Amino acid sequence: MSNLVAIVGRPNVGKSTLFNRLTQSRQAIVTDEAGTTRDRLYGKVQWNGQEFSLIDTGGWVVNSEDVMEDEINKQVDIAIKEANVVLFVVDVMNGLTDLDSSVADILRKSGKPVVIVSNKSDNYSIGYQSAEFYSLGLGDPYAISAINGSGTGDLLDRVVSLF
Ligand code: GDP
Ligand code: MG
Repeated sequence: MSNLVAIVGRPNVGKSTLFNRLTQSRQAIVTDEAGTTRDRLYGKVQWNGQEFSLIDTGGWVVNSEDVMEDEINKQVDIAIKEANVVLFVVDVMNGLTDLDSSVADILRKSGKPVVIVSNKSDNYSIGYQSAEFYSLGLGDPYAISAINGSGTGDLLDRVVSLF
């Protein structure tokens, strides 16, 4: 069985950008279907001699404010059922939200290995604020920038250590 890693998190925290960064060496970035740019859902990632499949759960559901809670609950259900490791992406520029906290509660109860990904940590001074995500009770937040790639090596080291 190959390892499966699922990305969950609120809309606009950078799930798809992270997915694209981690899988970009293997696949094209987006698929254009019927005039709309659709997120890909699955990709392969290789790191330090290990391979895993990555799922962008956010690609399945509509991203809009009024369905946000339903959306994230669906993502989390899929992740808890299917994945070996869950990447819970939060947005350090936006800070911790109530929805982040309720998702963290569900993930903690699931017993799955979870890595908190403090995305949009584009520079040191912003990344420093990732410490607030310790309060989610899911261990060390990994400060990364999905846009510039910083921190993604340490994140991948952590992910493959959990298989
Ligand atoms: P998703 O809804 O969680 O899949 O989020 P997207 O990947 O679509 O990204 C939402 C917005 O955040 C886009 O405008 C991205 O360019 C932006 N974004 C994603 N990652 C980063 C990052 O590391 N730094 C910054 N500054 N913006 C980011
Ligand atoms: Mg997305």
